[in-house]
Amino acid sequence: MDWPELKARLLAGGTARLSGAPATPYRSSSTAGPGAGTGGSVFFSDGRGRVRLEIDQNSPLEIVHLGAGQVIVKDRDLELRGILEPVALHCPRQAYITVSSGCIYRCRYCEVPAIHAGRKTPEAIEVMVERVRDRIDSISLTSGVLESIDAEEEYVIRVVGRLQRFGLPIGVSIFPGKDTAWRLHAAGVSEVKFNVEAATEELFSTMCPGLSYDSVWNALTQSVDRFGRNHVFSNLIIGLGESDEEAECCITDLCAIGVIPILRPLNPSGALSEFSRPSAERLFRLFACHSDALTASGLDPRCALTMCLECTGCDLVPGRDGAV
Ligand code: SF4
Repeated sequence: MDWPELKARLLAGGTARLSGAPATPYRSSSTAGPGAGTGGSVFFSDGRGRVRLEIDQNSPLEIVHLGAGQVIVKDRDLELRGILEPVALHCPRQAYITVSSGCIYRCRYCEVPAIHAGRKTPEAIEVMVERVRDRIDSISLTSGVLESIDAEEEYVIRVVGRLQRFGLPIGVSIFPGKDTAWRLHAAGVSEVKFNVEAATEELFSTMCPGLSYDSVWNALTQSVDRFGRNHVFSNLIIGLGESDEEAECCITDLCAIGVIPILRPLNPSGALSEFSRPSAERLFRLFACHSDALTASGLDPRCALTMCLECTGCDLVPGRDGAV
C-alpha cells in the first residue's frame, strides 16, 4: 500500500492501543487540537511520512513497542515496522503551545472550552521553549479566547515578543479580529493559520455560534499580502456534514486567494460525539482534489515552516505525504 492510502486508513481509524515496552517519552498530551484532553497520542512514522494516533486501549490497531522507539503496527491484514517519534511540546520538532486553555465560545466540535487549564504567562512559555530548544525547529502558538478576541490577540503578541530571542520561525493560530494579520506580522510572526473550519457559511454558523465566517476569510486575504503565499493556512474540518462538492469548492476558494487548506478529519467529541470520522476512501478522494487545487494555484505545503503543515500528524498533506 502506498503511503497516502495507508495514512488515509490510519487517519480514518485515528486511534491505537499500545503494548510492549513503556513508551512514555513518545507520548504527547494536549490542551488544544484533536485529542485535546484525552489520554494522549503517539506519532508513528515508517520513513515515508508521519501520522498521529490517539491512544485508546480499545482500538483495533495495535502498536507493539519493541523499545527505543522501534515499533510494529498490527491491524487485521496490516503489519508494518516503523518508529515512534519523540515529542518536543505537543508534536515532534516543534514547541506547539496553547497559550490560553479555555474559551468563551462553544464551537460544537471543540474540546478546549471544557479544559479549564487557564492561561500560561509569557515567562512560563519562555521557560517551556527553553527546555526543548535543542529539539525543535520552530515555535507555534494557539489559543482559546479567554475574555475577548482582541484581548487574546494582544496577549499572544506579548508572548511572541518574549519568544523572538530564540531566533526560530513562529507560527500563530488564533481567532482573528480586524487587522490581526497586520499586527501579528508587525510583531515578527512568520506564518498564520486562521481556520475556516466549515466548508460553508451556513455550516460554520451552526458549528461556531457567535463567530464570524467573514472575519476569518477577511483575515486570510489580508494575511497573504503580508506573510506571502505558502505561509498562510486554514483548517477545513472534514466530517461536519458538508458534501464533497462543498468541501472541494471551499478548497478551491482558499487556494484561489493564496491560502493552503489543511483538511482535518473530524474527531467526533463534545457535542458531536454522535458524528463519525470520515472514511479512508473519502479522505483519499479529497486528497487528490486538494493536491490538484494546490498545483493549479502554484501553492506548495513543503514551504511551510510551522504548525500543522510542518507537523503533518493529523492530516494528509499534499507534497509532504505524496505528490503535489
Ligand atoms: S497536525 Fe497540528 S494538531 Fe495535529 S499533532 Fe500536528 S501540530 Fe498538532
